[in-house]
Amino acid sequence: MKVRIDTQTSEIFVGADEIAYFARSKKEADGGKLCFVSTDAENSPFGGKDLSLPITSGDISFTLTGSADLIYRTDETVTLEKFRQIGRITGRTNPTRDPVFLAEGFLCAYMLCCEEHLPAVTLRLTYTVQGREDAASFICTFAENVLRHMSEILIARAAPFVAIQAEKELHGYPALSDMAFPYREIREGQRDFIYDTYRALKSGGRLLVCAPTGIGKTISALYPALRALGGRHVDKVFYLTAKTVTGNAAAQACRDMAVQVPQLRAVMIASKERTCAQSDGGFRHNQWQGRDCRMCPFIGEVNRKPYEERRDAAMLELLQNHFVIDTGMLCAVSKKHSLCP
Ligand code: SF4
Repeated sequence: MKVRIDTQTSEIFVGADEIAYFARSKKEADGGKLCFVSTDAENSPFGGKDLSLPITSGDISFTLTGSADLIYRTDETVTLEKFRQIGRITGRTNPTRDPVFLAEGFLCAYMLCCEEHLPAVTLRLTYTVQGREDAASFICTFAENVLRHMSEILIARAAPFVAIQAEKELHGYPALSDMAFPYREIREGQRDFIYDTYRALKSGGRLLVCAPTGIGKTISALYPALRALGGRHVDKVFYLTAKTVTGNAAAQACRDMAVQVPQLRAVMIASKERTCAQSDGGFRHNQWQGRDCRMCPFIGEVNRKPYEERRDAAMLELLQNHFVIDTGMLCAVSKKHSLCP
């Protein structure tokens, strides 16, 4: 999730597109009730509009932001239009099959309702195809209380993730850039390794280092990489290794650094064969009835819970309780929530 922080005021801004990610499923999007009808192009739009709304959900307060790509006004109605570019338009193209686009539309329509004190807004969702004239528009009118209800559900689901990300932006990155070397002494040669790695990362360059066993290559690479992350010279750090033992050393190095930076999160990713939640524990996947992943019972709804609900619960459990998420932890939490890791 992306959040933006005003460094002067510490105010948190979150886009409607980020919150819309928490829309659950096609079934929820239409609820069997929404009726978006296909419509022709409208004339005389009043231009677009940037939208914002202060939100408080649980312990977190932030400003929700979004935009109306176009607004149409008559004496009786206000219509907000959002555009989405897709590969091609077919007979199945419809916002009720597109929960994330629909959710973004709901949130923007709700913001417009609040800003202009409107009792209802007509939402017009239009699909376009790049480089072609093709377009398909769908409209539906929503009362303010319906938009509020849908928006509150989405915001409540997203709020814990906004809080985690905002904490990282506000405190995690500054703490990483000031982080001290986590061990008592720096070995001979290690200091040059660290400086050179940091300089290469900061300048966007490449570095090939050859160093003897025992010098501490793992921490010499990870420590400057995380300092560079804190300084926002890099976005993410991937530490690739072919060996489990060096992977474990990297995880331990992250644990040692997380003592200084509690917002630090590291995830160990292994092959599908090693992490399949349907395996027998012997690191072989597809053990269940010898079928392929498309038949896996963890895909789709389980015990009436949609995939996205289980995914979000598992993500929160991992992010709120663990600094370093290793493969065993990932498998255990995936199994608990009936998910493919
Ligand atoms: S989809 Fe199911 S069978 Fe396939 S790797 Fe994931 S958990 Fe295993």
